[in-house]
Amino acid sequence: MSDIDALVEIGLVRREVPLGPLTTYKAGGPAAYFAEVASGDELAALIESGLTARHPLLVLGRGSNLVVADSGFDGLVIKLVGEFTAASVSETRVEAGGATPLPRLARLAVDAEVLGLEFFVGVPGSVGGAIRQNAGCFGTETKDRLVVAEIVDLVTGEGSDRDPESLDLAYRHSNVAAEELVISATFQGHRGDPTAGKEKMREITRWRKEHQPGGTLNAGSVFKNPPGMTAGELIDSLGLKGMQVGDVAVSEKHANFFVAGPGATSGDVRRLVQAVKDTVFERSGTILEPEIQFVGFEE
Ligand SMILES: Cc1cc2nc3c(=O)[nH]c(=O)nc-3n(C[C@H](O)[C@H](O)[C@H](O)COP(=O)(O)OP(=O)(O)OC[C@H]3O[C@@H](n4cnc5c(N)ncnc54)[C@H](O)[C@@H]3O)c2cc1C
Repeated sequence: MSDIDALVEIGLVRREVPLGPLTTYKAGGPAAYFAEVASGDELAALIESGLTARHPLLVLGRGSNLVVADSGFDGLVIKLVGEFTAASVSETRVEAGGATPLPRLARLAVDAEVLGLEFFVGVPGSVGGAIRQNAGCFGTETKDRLVVAEIVDLVTGEGSDRDPESLDLAYRHSNVAAEELVISATFQGHRGDPTAGKEKMREITRWRKEHQPGGTLNAGSVFKNPPGMTAGELIDSLGLKGMQVGDVAVSEKHANFFVAGPGATSGDVRRLVQAVKDTVFERSGTILEPEIQFVGFEE
């Protein structure tokens, strides 16, 4: 029996698992291999099998910043579950597993009278995804609150503790590599009145409802903001709201959100992103850089 067959037998690895349902765009093909890892022991077994060293790797968080190709991902996708979704508060620090949903983290902190993490309430990702992308909004970024992240190299199995500086966190950037897995992180908040924290979270939610196309299939901001302006304002100023490829369109509500209909493919998303990027460059000279990540596409 091969290593893969042994892991399939014990249910740790599955073959040909559709990834679309695990992303916020709900589009895209299957992973050749898919491992849901619920504990440190399962992670160790996966690494010891050698599978992580032999295949291209994708760590999947909550899929809120990813577009997976319609042909899928020809490698091993790893998703943390179980013990990696646990979070706790100690004094003014919050410790959370890499798969902890960010809105839950924000609420948990506020309920424990720890403020400073409220900005996470409207970011539908995970702790690992937030660190990889240095997620942020309303003037605060992950790097402003992160103390340390525990990272495992999926090829060697070695672990390391990295602070924001050694993670090279900057605007929607980190040096977390494709073969690195954020298994936990510690955030620093400050003692405060939970009523104020709850009001701030309500305000953030209200603002998002008013300004972003909530309840639709999207992956948040498509492009990073170029220096001195927002990508949304630039795209809007060029009259590109409503531009459409297949069943994906530039949102009428926020021009940096591209919204998919039920018949959309990941190819539609990719082609619309390219069409908007090309049009913006032709008409303004600005080169927009995608914030969302494309997985499994041929360059
Ligand atoms: C409606 C909406 C609103 C959004 N608003 C914001 C916003 O205000 N600010 C903002 O910054 N983003 C925003 N986003 C984008 C997205 O939620 C964030 O980038 C988030 O941090 C992605 O986390 P995720 O778990 O979904 O990551 P995924 O999309 O699953 O993955 C993104 C990247 O992170 C990596 N990754 C995920 N988990 C781990 C891990 N445990 N270890 C190592 N690498 C990992 C993946 O390999 C991939 O490279 C929004 C998205 C949506 C849909």
